[in-house]
Amino acid sequence: MKRYPNYVDGEWRDSTAERTVANLNPAETHEVLGHVPQSTPDEARAAVDAAQRAFGPWRDTPAPVRGAALFRALAILDKEKEDLCRLLSREEGKTFKEAMGEVQRSINILEYTAAEGRRSGGQTVPSELPSNFCYTVRHPLGVVACITPWNFPVAIPVWKIAPALVAGNTVVFKPATLTPATASHLMSVFERAGLPKGVLNMVLGSGATVGNAILDHDAVRAVSFTGSNEVGAEIYARSAARMIRVQCEMGGKNPVVVLPDADLELAVECSAQGAFGSTGQRCTATSRVIVDERVADRFVEALVARAARIRVGNGLEGAEMGPAVDENQLRTDLKYIEIGQDEGARLVRGGSRLTSDGLDHGYFVEPTVFDHVTTSMRVAQEEIFGPVVSVIRVKGFDAAIEAANSVRYGLAASVFTSDASDIFRFTDRIEAGIVHINSGTPGGEAQLPFGGTKATGVGPREQGPGALEFFTEIKTVYVDYTGQSRKSSFY
Ligand code: NAD
Repeated sequence: MKRYPNYVDGEWRDSTAERTVANLNPAETHEVLGHVPQSTPDEARAAVDAAQRAFGPWRDTPAPVRGAALFRALAILDKEKEDLCRLLSREEGKTFKEAMGEVQRSINILEYTAAEGRRSGGQTVPSELPSNFCYTVRHPLGVVACITPWNFPVAIPVWKIAPALVAGNTVVFKPATLTPATASHLMSVFERAGLPKGVLNMVLGSGATVGNAILDHDAVRAVSFTGSNEVGAEIYARSAARMIRVQCEMGGKNPVVVLPDADLELAVECSAQGAFGSTGQRCTATSRVIVDERVADRFVEALVARAARIRVGNGLEGAEMGPAVDENQLRTDLKYIEIGQDEGARLVRGGSRLTSDGLDHGYFVEPTVFDHVTTSMRVAQEEIFGPVVSVIRVKGFDAAIEAANSVRYGLAASVFTSDASDIFRFTDRIEAGIVHINSGTPGGEAQLPFGGTKATGVGPREQGPGALEFFTEIKTVYVDYTGQSRKSSFY
């Protein structure tokens, strides 16, 4: 049975760890894809050492040449995308179509970021003094750590690793334990793209053991993390103690707001796709729909009907919605469904685990809709990360905004309306890093910044034109090209 090796210093190395975790297909839990070793702190430190050795030559490689390596990775990924999508679906549970969307997004990110090798630079700025030329230049930081979750196991690593590398850093990557196969495939793509040894390294294993060993290594200059708030807070504190740079993208509780003049059919379709697409396991998933009471009955009726039409099952066999990623997530989904009912929310669709019609070997949950949820309920406040959506009925625009902003998170938000003034008022007042008008909360494009405000995000945005900011240091250079200007002035 396959045991996934680490990728360190350009070699695939078996971990010495005896303890392993089985990598199961969440749609067919009797299918074991392989075993993930719980690597040791020494193995994690060896990966940082390798990245440290590789840093100097990689930093000195011209940026367009670094970018060319990403273009080669893109070509390999594109050629192999269907195979990778099947693996992704078997490992994480998302449908083949969702996997294609994720891998295409990764390709787009590589395309955009590879070109930064020819584009990114500093600024020239006027000087107060005559015959002085002042400019800024970007320099890489050194070794950076990329720690990622299981829900987008290709796209999230790519959107961290690609800008880190093109900027001239070397990387130690710690993927989620639930998705080692896609992570290993991604490493093999970069290996075949010809990255020099040590420039990119991957260590599998427990977040606490491997993650802490990486973060505590003196050579690590920055950490880019995506995952839960609990772990993000630990990483933030640990990094602060070493005064290293941190970027944390964490949870969401994303609202759709439906105003009375909305295209209801569109709002229902986008809410259903946002809530149940990827089994609700997206940081940008729609988990609350805040509906003006004048259209709430019609909205809920249509949403329930739409949820009922969703085919749940194995994402490689034509299902529209796959399983929860593992038993823990399944338990969390069912626990919140119970909590919602105990709190007095009205369960109007779903609410159960699905085990009939061949679904008994997977972690399947019904698409679930709660109505008459209030903002103080836990199902309206806490991230569930499953196919559960809460409808909150409100009176008017101001109440809708207040409800939308009543959570600690601030990742994505949508409004459905045909009133131009409400669109701009919503954009002004909503507390979110990503705002959609008349489209659902998920989604993003490689050339646009991605990330959240409030408890969702710490540090500069990922992706888009600013993606390299986090991974570079600015150096300001003053050139007195006659060597005369300081002679006549005294500060
Ligand atoms: P998680 O926080 O449990 O794990 C994320 C990663 O951190 C994993 O690789 C894990 O092994 C590692 N880790 C765990 N403990 C650690 C420690 N003490 N030190 C260092 N690393 C440690 O998150 P998850 O369950 O994999 O992912 C789901 C979460 O990710 C959700 O909250 C979701 O909203 C969030 N997410 C956010 C975004 C975003 O861009 N805002 C995108 C995707 C997912």
